[in-house]
Order: sequence, then C-alpha cells, then structure tokens
Amino acid sequence: MRTRRTIAAAMSVVALTAVAACGKSGSPSDSAAGAGAPKLPTYQVKTDVKLDGSKAFAEAKKRGRLIIGAKSDQPFLGFEDLSAGSGASARSGFDIEIAKMVAADLGFGPDQIEWKTIVSANRENAISGGQIDYYVGTYTINPGRKAQVSFAGPYLVAGQDLLVSKDNKDITGPDSLKDKSVCTVTGSTSIQNIEKYGAKVTKYEAYSQCVDKLMTGEVDAVTTDDAILKGYAAKNPDKLKVVGKPFTQEPYGVGLAKDDSVLRNAIDDALKAHEDNGDWKKAYDATLGLSGAAAPAVPALDRY
Ligand code: GLU
Repeated sequence: MRTRRTIAAAMSVVALTAVAACGKSGSPSDSAAGAGAPKLPTYQVKTDVKLDGSKAFAEAKKRGRLIIGAKSDQPFLGFEDLSAGSGASARSGFDIEIAKMVAADLGFGPDQIEWKTIVSANRENAISGGQIDYYVGTYTINPGRKAQVSFAGPYLVAGQDLLVSKDNKDITGPDSLKDKSVCTVTGSTSIQNIEKYGAKVTKYEAYSQCVDKLMTGEVDAVTTDDAILKGYAAKNPDKLKVVGKPFTQEPYGVGLAKDDSVLRNAIDDALKAHEDNGDWKKAYDATLGLSGAAAPAVPALDRY
C-alpha cells in the first residue's frame, strides 16, 4: 500500500510537469499551439483475424478486448495522464503506439484495449501468469528473460545512459560513478549493468521515483535507457540533462507468453507491416521525437 502511494505521488509530480510542459504532445487542448507538430498515425483495424493456436488471442477474442501491459510514468514512451480519466487518450508515447498498431492488426481498436500498468520487476510474472496478453514498455530482449517469456521485435534499440542535474560537471559516464549515489529500478537490466561501477545504488519500482530523488538532490544520477532519460530531461530542461554516452545496447521487444509462437509471429508481422508503411516513423516523430532524439534506423526483426 505504502509503495503504491509513493509511486502515485512520484508519478503525479511527473504528470504535473508533463502537463506544464505541454503544447506539443497532441493533447486535446493544444491543437493551436501544436500546428505543424508531427501527427500521430491512425491504424486501420483488421477484421476477421484468425490466429489458430494462440491462447492469449483466443481469450482476448472471447472477452472482446486485449489486455496490454505498459509503463505509465515514462514521458514520450509509456505515459498515463492521470488527469485525463481512464480512456484510451490518457495513455501516450512510442510504446503505446507500438502496442496500438499491433492491436489493430490483431483486430482490436483503441477502445478495445484495457491497459495495465506493470513496473519492470513484475513483467515476467504478469506475462507468464496470463494477467496481460502482451507487454510493450522499454522491455529489453535478453537470454535470461527469454527463458521465461517470448519476445517479438526488436522494434527499437536504446542504450543505458545517465541523467544528472543540469549543472553537474563530474559525472561524465559510468566510470565516473565511484562512490556517487545512483538511482535505478528493481528488475531492470539497468540495475544489473550499473553494479560493477562501484556506485551506491538506490532502487525504486519506477523511474519517476528516481527522478524525484534527483530533483531534490538526494541522489547524484539516475541510470536507465537513454530513450527514457531523454523524456525526463525534455520535461525538465532547466534542471536535468542526459550525459549522452550510452554504454549498453537495449533492444526493445514486445513481451508475450513463452509458448505462444503463433501470437509472436503475428506481432512480428504487424511490426514489419507498420515499419514498412511508414507508421513506425510517424509514430516515433510524434512521440519520442519530441524529446529531441532523431529517429534511429529501424532494427531488423529477430524472428525465432
Ligand atoms: N530496458 C531496460 C529493461 O528492460 C530498462 C528499462 C526498464 O526497466 O523498463 O530492464
């Protein structure tokens, strides 16, 4: 209960900052300010989709909606605007767009998606326990996770980096972290990767909690993927900056049940179709692109 309240408080700080910094992210109230801003694509919802042998798909069909796991406190990637009610428009970001384009190819429109916020440490359990049909949320594909879940993709490759105060001069990369306090999230690859650099590591459930600690000076840096950190920096440009020297490779995949190769192939097909028809790039420009990072090359799918 306590942790949940803490996350809600931390997220509301980020949400408020996000609202304050709005004017370019396509919220209903900013259409005038956003004239000329990149527009989100809409995805044609397929009809008569059949995926024989996929348990998750059969259950989603039966209940009439998909249940998708996502992050809710990562601006431009997976963000929930808590002031916008619980409708489809409350969620925004590149991961949310990836989830929606896949859903459309599976035959589910945005109003047939139920979103569930799942933090990093709970992803494998949520997927293998059948709480969600698939997960899209800065989820690195790696062999350890592949032993528990399956991945479509990758659909983007990020790299671990550091977020520091704008005026910080002594943190220049992971090798400068000895005895510094660094905040990251349990159950992430970020926490595993940072251990060897001799920093004092503080951990929370969600990155927004770390950003709050950085803003109050309780930690010296936040570490995770550059894509995530650039979003926080863009929302607080006067206070925060990304060091900008990524030191890992984080290929993002769509997580799903380990034995569901039918759904995995269908999600890979959907990713390929939307990459090829330009939706991927449009979605990127209208979400992550707004944090100042130009679209990278689309990574090749790793079908297995
Ligand atoms: N991509 C990394 C991971 O999957 C860090 C970001 C996250 O925790 O979602 O662990």
